[in-house]
Amino acid sequence: MQKKLRVGILGATGAVGQRFVELLADHPWFELAALTASAASAGRRYGDACRWLLSSDIPPGVADVVVRETAPTIDCDIVFSALPGDQAGPLEEAFAAAGYGVFSNASAHRQDPDVPLLIPEANPDHLTLVGTQRARRGWERGFIITNPNCSAVMLTMALAPLHTAFGLRSVLVSTMQGLSGAGYPGVPSLDALDNVIPFIGGEEEKLASEPRKMLGTLNGEQVEPAGFAVSAHCNRVPTREGHLETVSVALERPATPQQVVEVWREWHPLPQQLNLPTAPQPPIVVRPEPDRPQTRLDRDAGRGMAVSVGRVRPCDIFDVKFIVLGHNTIRGAAGASVLNAELMLAQGMLNT
Ligand code: NAP
Repeated sequence: MQKKLRVGILGATGAVGQRFVELLADHPWFELAALTASAASAGRRYGDACRWLLSSDIPPGVADVVVRETAPTIDCDIVFSALPGDQAGPLEEAFAAAGYGVFSNASAHRQDPDVPLLIPEANPDHLTLVGTQRARRGWERGFIITNPNCSAVMLTMALAPLHTAFGLRSVLVSTMQGLSGAGYPGVPSLDALDNVIPFIGGEEEKLASEPRKMLGTLNGEQVEPAGFAVSAHCNRVPTREGHLETVSVALERPATPQQVVEVWREWHPLPQQLNLPTAPQPPIVVRPEPDRPQTRLDRDAGRGMAVSVGRVRPCDIFDVKFIVLGHNTIRGAAGASVLNAELMLAQGMLNT
């Protein structure tokens, strides 16, 4: 058996960091080697520094690991970053410059022209930007790969095969986003309960721009964003996990709801062909019931890595409308990063 790659988690005590711990504890290719967090947690046992929020127990042995300061001196080959957006930028660069492969959840580098914003099912070809990045920044071994905003993942997964088959002209999306998307402790309970908050700072801008980068065309050393327009409304709702989105799309070439469903059902992209350990089979679950997908019932599809779609019907203003749902801290965050790393390893790009 191939030797496991030693991995670290930056920001391991937070909502996304905990998902990383859960997903990596028993991974066939990766071995958990280091956990970091802020200065307030460094030096403490993980089990003491972290308020564990998941229904599974802290994996055996992890509670006793001593949390390290987030500095590029930890003993591992690659790092998964769950650092806050306002801290991640320089810290992730310091790790990449020191030779670590960085798989980031933060928004800091997503729009850098030489940084892949990756969904392995949608744009694996964008990984060639790693060469450009290293040449431009003078990094010999290190690199930064980002995964998208948690609402943008679900939307882009559903849009990717439609863009290939029919061409997208415009997209109107409204989200109903779970509370864990705001990290821990996140939105105060007295604001969240019995309420819908029709604003999430910076989210609509990310949802409008990230799908266009991911579905854009690689043009030499940068990505030409896809030409379709996105109009986004983002709302925080009092569910715990799962982002549900209502979507209307206008297409370049006409398609019936049935043809849209067929394209989703037949989609068998690279991670599924390679049978990567975290790749859901199938990547898109089509729900035939008139009232699915629902957040509580469907967010765990494909161990939280599949997106679920349903209610596909004609739209009187656009062409077709539907619902898409995904798990925000798994497919929308930690699981997405792990799948990015699996793709690079499977393609021989992580020879450390
Ligand atoms: P969170 O719960 O607030 O956790 C933040 C983590 O970063 C904690 O481990 C914290 O450690 C650590 N940290 C804070 N300040 C630090 C510093 N100065 N130096 C080093 N470590 C520091 O946040 P989260 O929800 O897990 O989100 C993490 C990142 O993922 C963010 O960039 C977020 O935008 C992104 N993201 C989140 C989701 C989601 O659904 N939640 C989805 C996609 C992307 P302490 O415990 O010591 O404070």
